[in-house]
Amino acid sequence: MKRRELICAGSIASGYWPRRRTIIVAMAAIVLLPIEVSHAGWLSDLFKGSPKQGKSSKQAKPPKLATSPKPAVLAKPATSPKRHTVKLAALGPVHLNPVALKPVATRCDPQKFRIVLDVGHTAESEGAISARNVSEFVFNLRLAKRIEAKLKAEGFAETRLLLTEGKARRSLVKRVATANDLRADLLLSIHHDSVPNKFLEDWEFEGKKSRFSDRFSGYSVLVSRTNADFQTSRSFAELTGKEMKAQGLDYAQQYSQPIMGRYQRPLLNRETGVYRYDELIVLRKTRMAAVLLEAGSIINRDEELKMSSPERRDIISSGVTAAVKEFCEPRWAMLGPL
Ligand SMILES: [Zn+2]
Repeated sequence: MKRRELICAGSIASGYWPRRRTIIVAMAAIVLLPIEVSHAGWLSDLFKGSPKQGKSSKQAKPPKLATSPKPAVLAKPATSPKRHTVKLAALGPVHLNPVALKPVATRCDPQKFRIVLDVGHTAESEGAISARNVSEFVFNLRLAKRIEAKLKAEGFAETRLLLTEGKARRSLVKRVATANDLRADLLLSIHHDSVPNKFLEDWEFEGKKSRFSDRFSGYSVLVSRTNADFQTSRSFAELTGKEMKAQGLDYAQQYSQPIMGRYQRPLLNRETGVYRYDELIVLRKTRMAAVLLEAGSIINRDEELKMSSPERRDIISSGVTAAVKEFCEPRWAMLGPL
């Protein structure tokens, strides 16, 4: 069976940022690399922005989602963006690039703060295929459900899981439209990574010809400079990357390297693994802050086994939950060595 060079990037986002929200974003120098962004990943063109994307949304069947008519409302702003002692939500030393360590003080009520967890791809359009022939969609769904459970257990009652149906492009249009209708405060799109076709090697798994690449591994966090709220997206991306690192995970460094050719991306922070990927529809068409997490590689045989384990899902879920808490709570929001 011919495998498409297709991997990641779904996303959702919803609504608007309520006016009352106050977000103090004091990232001293957001590095906007003047690099021409290339396409990334073996994301097919389906995942790149198109000016016409809104047109076909009328025919789209609404994605499955537990919706609530209540808009998310953020609590009063933190009165002081003063920096406090660094307190990482996860254990382990983390050394961060000072440029990315300026405080981002956001305050919200966990009971009302709505984060939408976008399950990347669909049952029909499954994204990447793992070294052992499991679809990325399966990985995305399992992980997103675990993150959802953990966030709700931590009091983020408005957390929503977004599952979309249909073929690739149409499903993307649908997920973006749904997200924008949802009035979410934040979107996190969940994906798992692979490699461009040129790196694939053959092997046999359970009697079936399969493909793998053990060359690369790791997570990455993607943001789009064309998102409606890039600074907030970047802030949450940094927190997510920091917490993934604090959980002992390494990010995928290869996307900063020329070997990736047209898939090379601008690396915004070499400590946290935050990359820029401007063209992703789920990031650029959503009207709220949005971040895409490639949780790990499923084409790498060793990492696939890890990503299949409940333990790894738990680690990643803990990292994401810690990042959301830091994002919301000023006392968690002070980053880095001060
Ligand atoms: Zn994906």
